[in-house]
Amino acid sequence: MTRQSVTMYKHILLAVDFSSDTDCLVKRTFDIGSEFAAKISIVHILDNIPMPDISYGTIIALNDETDNALLEQEKAKLNEIGERLNVPDEQRWLIWGSPKEEICALAEQENIDLIIVGSHGRHGLALLLGSTANDVLHHAPCDVLAVRLK
Ligand code: AMP
Repeated sequence: MTRQSVTMYKHILLAVDFSSDTDCLVKRTFDIGSEFAAKISIVHILDNIPMPDISYGTIIALNDETDNALLEQEKAKLNEIGERLNVPDEQRWLIWGSPKEEICALAEQENIDLIIVGSHGRHGLALLLGSTANDVLHHAPCDVLAVRLK
């Protein structure tokens, strides 16, 4: 096999839950994105804030201010990661819903060819592979990198 035949990742999706290991995921995404000169998108699925009156899959605008302090915090965290990775505003996704479903649906919609998740996060501290990571691995339309978090 020659070097040219190695798969090139063109569009990487980093899924972040803002747990304490997020920094490690951001660094890994930066390194892999640079290696492949890939476009990077980032997503956080809002699954821990009550969001009445909207349906699952709703995209939350990052630049419209609301009076929901918790929501504003999540927006700020996503924007901070977006700045660090030089991700344009339109590739920063905040979506209300179920992480496993919305991450895979977004990957399909945006023609992602590599999803990066942590091996475990908020839902899987005691596990080798957390529930979201496991579900994404099973249902993703593309390659998935589960970064081993200690
Ligand atoms: P878990 O399997 O839920 O313990 O989390 C494993 C990884 O899945 C995390 O490190 C994130 O990369 C991703 N993840 C989990 N929950 C979310 C979420 N709400 N939004 C985006 N990514 C998530």
